[in-house]
Amino acid sequence: MASTVVSKQAKGRGNWNKSLSILKEFQSVCSTPAESLWSLVDEMIAEMEAGLAKEGGGKMRMLLTFVDNLPNGNETGIFYALDLGGTNFRVLRVQLGGKEGGVMRKESREAAIPPELMQGTNKELFDYIAKELADFACTSDENFCPRGKRLQLGFTFSFPIHQTSIKSGNLINWTKGFAVPDTVGKDVVKELEAAITRQGLEMRVSALVNDTVGTLARGHFVDEDVMISVILGTGTNACYVEDAAAIPKWHGRSRFMVINTEWGSSWSDNLPRADVDEALDAESINPGDQFFEKLVSGMYLGDILRRVLLKMATEAQLFGDEVPSKLLSPLSLTTPKMCAMHHDETSDLHEVGRILSESIGVDDTSLEVRQLVVEVCEAVAMRAARLAGAGIVGILKKIGRDGSTSGENGSVRSGAPRTVVAVDGGLYEKYPRFQEHLQKVVVEMLGEETAQQVSIELSQDGSGVGAALIAACCPSAPSL
Ligand code: BGC
Ligand code: MG
Repeated sequence: MASTVVSKQAKGRGNWNKSLSILKEFQSVCSTPAESLWSLVDEMIAEMEAGLAKEGGGKMRMLLTFVDNLPNGNETGIFYALDLGGTNFRVLRVQLGGKEGGVMRKESREAAIPPELMQGTNKELFDYIAKELADFACTSDENFCPRGKRLQLGFTFSFPIHQTSIKSGNLINWTKGFAVPDTVGKDVVKELEAAITRQGLEMRVSALVNDTVGTLARGHFVDEDVMISVILGTGTNACYVEDAAAIPKWHGRSRFMVINTEWGSSWSDNLPRADVDEALDAESINPGDQFFEKLVSGMYLGDILRRVLLKMATEAQLFGDEVPSKLLSPLSLTTPKMCAMHHDETSDLHEVGRILSESIGVDDTSLEVRQLVVEVCEAVAMRAARLAGAGIVGILKKIGRDGSTSGENGSVRSGAPRTVVAVDGGLYEKYPRFQEHLQKVVVEMLGEETAQQVSIELSQDGSGVGAALIAACCPSAPSL
């Protein structure tokens, strides 16, 4: 745990008491007591129901995914997959070998999306993706490349999509720093297939999925108790298996459908936000959008930390008379750097000092200043993890897996089914304190006994392999 800043004396530079009071105020916004998280959960469930009733009906999008069948381990064949959604972009080839073989082979290539393409034109973006795919297809191993057959492709596209079938969907809006205006409203499958054809390749998209859906499919392939999946990475989102009867806006005949909640876009006046959060939103590429995501996901946490430190530097001269100029740059403190400072176990917080020097150009910080920085990291990460945990509890409650479901005589039902929540994303994977807070708040909210029936598990590579699995298991998925 982070050491507590106890001293009220002037231990830092500038007005130390003022820095402490900025810290206290921020910590109090981030404290997220269980009662207020439960109010958020109740509000969230009402919004989920409104979103399931009607397109755009609530603050949660609750998008239909047309996935009404999940892989059960019997899938076989060779599939390609494309994964576009965050900082990196990947192409994969996967060989599925059914119950015996599982994922028998996997080859992939990863590339960073050039920043200019994230804010360029639709054609440039899709031509780049298709070119990477063409370069990758059939290069490394001829035997692992089914020539002459029409190749099947699963496309993981991790942005909100209005789907009309398993293989079509129009982009609602971009998130996570992407801004390619002429893609909005278009069917991204058509755009991709046209670009693939321009590369002279014969490949058709058989499944278009969100990364949450891929993660759910990947989880379900190995464990059929996986009912919910959550991404905590650059962005954040969750999907889950919903009863068809609970989805008034879906008129098809399936028994269930996976619903992409797009919880990152939800907002509520009850969300605990500080002035720095408002400023981050206002100065972002998508002001007013993705508010929950801006409090929770990896793209933003480091920047929240930076803004709190900037406030201390400006209002309390924490780093001396002048505000360090690097502290004004949004990219100076990333979430991985915040994580490294937060986990500094050295007695003099040496790593914190090193990162502050390297990233914002302040040398010779006192131990107290470093402790203060760690306290801010703790508040930012804790709030994010507790909000994400509350989101998970909300979905559990929505599907009656929160332990509150009554038996026949109002008695608490015993032997509640086990539920697995598959989680993927760098924030969850690489930030142990975040992971601990998330696990802890779920137990705190559900109680030990119920929480024992809920298992939150890291499930990697869903956004790659998951799309291939859905392409394999769901060729006859319904459409509107
Ligand atoms: C997108 C979601 C996606 C999530 C995690 C969000 O910004 O809107 O569709 O699942 O990021 O990648
Ligand atoms: Mg991803």
